[in-house]
Amino acid sequence: MRLKHLLSVGIGILLFLFIFIPAIQAENGQIYEVGTSSLNVRSAPSYSAEVIGQLTEGDHVVAFQESFGWVQTYYGGHEAWVASQYLFPAGDQKNTTTKQTELTVTKNEVQIRTGPGTAYKVIGSTSKGSTFKLLETTNDWHKVRLSNGATGWIAAWLTSADTKSKNAITKNKNQVSGLEGYNIVLDPGHGGKDPGAIGIDGIYEKDLIMMTADNIAQQLRAAGAAVILTRSSDYFVPLEERVSISNAYNTDAFISIHFNAFPLIPIQGISTHYYSYGTSRDLARNIQASITQDINMENRGIMKSNYHVLRENNTSSVLVELGFITNPHDLSLIQTTDYQKNVAEGIVSGLTNYFHK
Ligand SMILES: [Zn+2]
Repeated sequence: MRLKHLLSVGIGILLFLFIFIPAIQAENGQIYEVGTSSLNVRSAPSYSAEVIGQLTEGDHVVAFQESFGWVQTYYGGHEAWVASQYLFPAGDQKNTTTKQTELTVTKNEVQIRTGPGTAYKVIGSTSKGSTFKLLETTNDWHKVRLSNGATGWIAAWLTSADTKSKNAITKNKNQVSGLEGYNIVLDPGHGGKDPGAIGIDGIYEKDLIMMTADNIAQQLRAAGAAVILTRSSDYFVPLEERVSISNAYNTDAFISIHFNAFPLIPIQGISTHYYSYGTSRDLARNIQASITQDINMENRGIMKSNYHVLRENNTSSVLVELGFITNPHDLSLIQTTDYQKNVAEGIVSGLTNYFHK
């Protein structure tokens, strides 16, 4: 192509971006804030895709589409993707000015109240080192934005202020949270007298499950979820009891964890099972997509299966089969920390996508 043509194509693209992006933004551009100190911007929705830039805590990202744990935005005029687990919806933009003050709590057990004075009701507490965005100040009391989006008041003499010209940090790094307020029941399959499947070298399904479930529980809690486990170590729990645990709580999602086995050694891969169409199937689709995204295992897809823990459950419920312990490739991968981390993160982003779509 000749230079003249290149130039006109370039100008055309610029004009296109200039004219159309604001329109898209106004329509469906959810604005997110980066909740981690540094976040890679990638060319495609995958952790193996090329890193084309970096965002820092407090940066704003406009999302044009969201897919399986990734948010699509533009970076330097190009389509770009960032992992959604490090983003949270940006606060009320109307109340923020360009000059924002960040408060740091300087004492432990500082109470958060509904109004500016000790006569107001206590709605929570915070500790030394926590940071908040200052909204207003009245009589030596600061009104702040809390991590759940609500507001509260803190005594000014228990904080120190730091004025920044931009990028006020409104959230603790540890509280990256797409799952705050959700109750998740994790169901580690088998246990005790029931070893589950027996794999290569006599490895028990129940033992691999417990290790994996602990990793998943940890990541879910880090993402803000309340997690209930139907078993927390090596003991037997009947299927009926697993379901009653799920049905007894105000459960938002039930996830049963298993590994697969088959007489033919080459059979391998990950699958997610659901019983009812609708929300359970939807949950299965989201979870299967996000766990298979960064794991080098065959994607066996989602399928309807008549399992007791799914059929009798009152809530959205899925059963994941996280690889075949009768297949050498799967079994060796399952025991790596990378795999364990990817499965846990995949379940967190699958749930996040399911709840926030
Ligand atoms: Zn099993």
